[in-house]
Amino acid sequence: MLPTSRIEVSKSALENNLRFLKEQMGPDACISSVVKGNAYGHAIEQFVPLAEACGMNHFSVFDASEAYRVKQVAGNPETEVLIMGMISNDQMEWAVENDVAFFTFEPERLEEALSAARRVRRPAKVHIELETGMNRTGFSRYQLPEVVHLLKKHPGGLLFEGLCTHFAGAESIANYVRIKNQRKAFNHLYKWFKNQGLAPRLRHTACSAAAMRYPPTRMDMVRIGIMQYGFWPSRETFIDFSIRSGIKEDPLERLVAWKSSVMDIKRVKAGEYVGYGTSYLANEAMEIATVPVGYAHGFSRSLSNQGRVLIRGKRVGVIGMVNMNMITVDVSQLDSVERGDEVVIIGRQGERELSVSSFGEFSEQVNYELLTRLPMDIPRKVVE
Ligand SMILES: *Cc1c(COP(=O)(O)O)cnc(C)c1O
Repeated sequence: MLPTSRIEVSKSALENNLRFLKEQMGPDACISSVVKGNAYGHAIEQFVPLAEACGMNHFSVFDASEAYRVKQVAGNPETEVLIMGMISNDQMEWAVENDVAFFTFEPERLEEALSAARRVRRPAKVHIELETGMNRTGFSRYQLPEVVHLLKKHPGGLLFEGLCTHFAGAESIANYVRIKNQRKAFNHLYKWFKNQGLAPRLRHTACSAAAMRYPPTRMDMVRIGIMQYGFWPSRETFIDFSIRSGIKEDPLERLVAWKSSVMDIKRVKAGEYVGYGTSYLANEAMEIATVPVGYAHGFSRSLSNQGRVLIRGKRVGVIGMVNMNMITVDVSQLDSVERGDEVVIIGRQGERELSVSSFGEFSEQVNYELLTRLPMDIPRKVVE
């Protein structure tokens, strides 16, 4: 049975964004499509086959369960999967057996990888994550001789696939000095590995913001999340790009649209309250429409008397409280409205667009958070 709303994922928007990103990154750096957080809310099951159809064959996830989901739906035997965060010891055999690469950032995980490799008789593809100043995960300098020792001693068990790090906020120029020091630290440690006679297949450090802002961080691979979905990591990153390129209009297109339809329409007399309590008083006779989406579906209660949706190409306001399963909107200004009319909660309708961030301004969330919080149980549908 059909749910009361749906989330669409646009193929042409993804094609557009990947074209732009490839052009920006140049021929040397391959792009790993970051699909953690359920592909930033777009859903791994729908997004990964779509991205493969658009030519992507490297995906980065946070944990082993996401890697498993990518593996389940990936259709291209060449497609590679990289776990950037959590993998437990009992998941490691599965990873090694299935050629899934993973970050290592402490000696025990490297030892575990080696023993898993021995058990399944296949080399473990490891990426050595370096601590360069973010102070989250990554091998510290004093641990590296042990890493080098293990890699050199067991070349058949441990494949030195990657050397990597992550920046602590490349989307803000306020962090410039910190990022600069991280870049220096990484380059220094890379040279140190080379001097030990070890070279990784891939050096990778850049997320979207670093890849756009600091081209030397692109190296062999960039890990691109937010931008492939059509969002800039921060407004600042876009402005910086715009100034440097002279391109004024946002070259990215949002993939995601959240849509429902009008459930009911009614007239309200002047002086009546609408919905629960007294939060909305009709100053004059008006027409309202109910939409079957509420906070249970992820339409935040903080959007009461604040939120906007699009109906018949016009922006209309939420009136009264957001209910568990419904909102009411003021459609008095529309020429006509009918039951079943499309309601856009996020996305484009005619000339107008409600962006994820305009949806979020009222609830004070950033794009990353808003996207990943798009309700999981609303089905995603790929559209052209
Ligand atoms: C999330 C993440 C990325 C991608 O970041 P975006 O800003 O979405 O491009 C890259 N690398 C790591 C380690 C991450 O966790």
